[in-house]
Amino acid sequence: MITAERKPMEELTECMKPFGRILLVGCNECVTVCAAGGRKEVGLLSSALQMHFMKENKPFEVKELTLERQCDPEYVEELAPHINQVDAVLSMACGCGVQEIARRYKEKPVFPAVNTKFMGASESQGVWAERCAGCGDCVLGITGGVCPIARCSKQLFNGPCGGSTNGKCEIDSSVDCAWQLIWDRLKALGKVDLYEENIAAKDWRTGRGGGPRKIIREDLAS
Ligand code: SF4
Ligand code: SF4
Repeated sequence: MITAERKPMEELTECMKPFGRILLVGCNECVTVCAAGGRKEVGLLSSALQMHFMKENKPFEVKELTLERQCDPEYVEELAPHINQVDAVLSMACGCGVQEIARRYKEKPVFPAVNTKFMGASESQGVWAERCAGCGDCVLGITGGVCPIARCSKQLFNGPCGGSTNGKCEIDSSVDCAWQLIWDRLKALGKVDLYEENIAAKDWRTGRGGGPRKIIREDLAS
C-alpha cells in the first residue's frame, strides 16, 4: 500500500490561515490502513484545526467527508455538491488523491494534509516499512522475493557492498541488509546458485527514470 504521515500541525494551520470554510477530505483506502488520512483522522484533524482557530478568535468551519478512493474520478465527483460552499480543500489522501481533486476542481485551492512516503508493508502494529520502488520491471523472482531497489540503501543489484554488520545495513543499523535477507531466503529455497548469477544492468526507463508512466489496458479502456 501507499504509506503517508500527517503533516505537522503548524504547517497545516499556516496553510489554512487564509480560509474560513474548508472541505477536509479523507480516503478509505491506503491512508486509512496506515492511520494517516481515513475517517478517524479526518475527525481528529478537523477538531484540532477548529480548536486552533477558535483560540485565535478566527471563524473557521470544516465540512468533513471521506471518499472511497480519492484517486478515482468516480468518487471525487462526490465532492461536487460541496465544493462551491468552501474556500479550499484539505486532502488527507496520498499525492494521487490530492492531484485528482485539483484536476477535477480547477478553480478551488487544494492542499495536502499528509506527506506521502512510500509503497510499503506492515511490519508490526504501527510500523510500516518500504518494500517496493515501482521500478516497472520486477526482479523479485531472482532475488528470493526481497527487493534490492527498495530495501538496499545503495540499490545494489549484484551482491552486498561489504559493509553490513550482523545482518544490518551499514547506512542504518536499524535496517536489515537487503542482501543478507536475499542470501538467507535463497538458502532457504535451495537456490543459492541464483546468488552467483550476475543480474544484468537495469534499464531504468521502466521506472521513474523514463519520465511519468501510464498503463493502458486496451481491453478495459473505453
Ligand atoms: S524489483 Fe521493482 S517492482 Fe519489484 S519490488 Fe523492487 S522496486 Fe518493486
Ligand atoms: S549493507 Fe546491505 S543493505 Fe546496506 S547498502 Fe550495503 S548491501 Fe545494501
